[in-house]
Amino acid sequence: MRIIEDCKAGTFTLVPVNFGERMLVRKLLDTVKRNLKYEYHGHAKNSTQENKALQFNVGGTPYRKAIFYNGKKLGIADGYKGGTNFRVRASDEKSRKALGGMRDMCFFASGGLLFLREAQVDNTRSIVCTGAFCKSCGSPVIGLVAARENLICGECSDGKCEHEYKKTVLLTPAFGLIETEACTKCKRMSPAAFERAKQTPKLQRLAEAQAHLRALAANVHCFLGRFGDDLNMSVDEAVALRDSGAVPERYKELVATVPEAKAIFDDIAKDFQERI
Ligand SMILES: [Zn+2]
Ligand SMILES: [Zn+2]
Repeated sequence: MRIIEDCKAGTFTLVPVNFGERMLVRKLLDTVKRNLKYEYHGHAKNSTQENKALQFNVGGTPYRKAIFYNGKKLGIADGYKGGTNFRVRASDEKSRKALGGMRDMCFFASGGLLFLREAQVDNTRSIVCTGAFCKSCGSPVIGLVAARENLICGECSDGKCEHEYKKTVLLTPAFGLIETEACTKCKRMSPAAFERAKQTPKLQRLAEAQAHLRALAANVHCFLGRFGDDLNMSVDEAVALRDSGAVPERYKELVATVPEAKAIFDDIAKDFQERI
């Protein structure tokens, strides 16, 4: 893999460089749901300093069991039952350095990688991930600081940016599409806006974002419903979505054809389960 470490954006990007890696990335992107963690599971056994390979598992259940030989306990074996196991290897010198940073973060701080989004890098489907999120603005953060309980990103803590907040629509890792107040220079949400976002149900956030976008451009791509649709669900529809995953009649066709819409309704259903 080519591994791009972007400390400012707080991301590691995995760009496959051969057929096997392209297949792996495709599998991870197509079968693994969003918001999942790639659990770190140490170096691969045949891993060397020059050819380091990190092991991850996604979707599996961790286990630990004692190993006995002739009635003597030899040690503990741990691993993951089920899910997808995969390895990350660096393909060039720069990536090797990034892999070292990724290993330290996973081992000492985050315990793994948090999937953020899919990206196209050099026309190749790639995976963007992070280690943690800033408690003040919600931005992704990588590095050993990910271990801090009261994690605050560099921009928020050292005050380098003289924030100029403005109402805008952002696609954020923590909240998806949201109308919020963010700095025009560093793109971070204001602490007040971040607090409000945490208190606002997902459907309302989406509705606000969409209303904002519609005001800007009439034919903008809409994530929930089509242009001209009534956005709000009735209480009956919301309850049906929460209890049985039933998508409201007028969104059924959209959900059947647009994968993002399906994912958004899954998220809304989950959000309702937690909040209503
Ligand atoms: Zn921050
Ligand atoms: Zn700023």
